[in-house]
Amino acid sequence: MNEAPQSDVLLVLSGAGLSAASGVPTFRDKDGLWEGHEVTDVATPEAWFRDPELVRRFYNERRIACQATEPNTGHRALAALQASLGNERVILVTQNIDGLLQKAGCLNVIEMHGSLWKLRCEASSEHPRIQFSGAQTGAESCTICAAAMRPDVVWFGEQPYFMASIAEAISRCGTFWSVGTSGLVYPAAGFVRQASAMGALCLEVNPNPSGGFFHRVVAENAETALPRLTKAWLDQS
Ligand SMILES: [Zn+2]
Repeated sequence: MNEAPQSDVLLVLSGAGLSAASGVPTFRDKDGLWEGHEVTDVATPEAWFRDPELVRRFYNERRIACQATEPNTGHRALAALQASLGNERVILVTQNIDGLLQKAGCLNVIEMHGSLWKLRCEASSEHPRIQFSGAQTGAESCTICAAAMRPDVVWFGEQPYFMASIAEAISRCGTFWSVGTSGLVYPAAGFVRQASAMGALCLEVNPNPSGGFFHRVVAENAETALPRLTKAWLDQS
């Protein structure tokens, strides 16, 4: 009996650890606060409706700081792999909102937590997004319903985006890499279980391994491990 050929699709889930070496700031001061607020307190729908000016200021600072950052060797290794094999065979899902994968040249990045570089209508997630850089003034409004535009970022208490596309991609991948993510936050933490259950080989790249359902662990930073791993992947493809 011949076994079905293993899928040659690679799915890479990335998190904050991928961008750490690019110097994306955390916005926490020595007390772990931003302007006296818990960072988690300004990243909620409740904060937006209570004090949009405060939330806009927080994201304006993040946008300006992120604009100055550059992709590192981890982002560039993924971009080079995708350029060689195509975005059907190298699927990128990220929890990062910084846009550094795209800045490195990656295509079709599935941004499950949204993007710092887009705004969306506060009244409807179905209304058109706009590309945005710089500082929001509060004058930005929806072209359909004239409601205010908010950062197109998934906040605490909100559902991550593209869950159906991600589940579909997990079902097609033969190999799953989790890079620079704690593996503790659901639903992303559940992806490896799904991938493993569907028969994918699961690898974690994380200097502090999560202890999740991985077949192999590379306890290193993304920017040092990915150039080597992507080269090995390309050599065997
Ligand atoms: Zn609208």
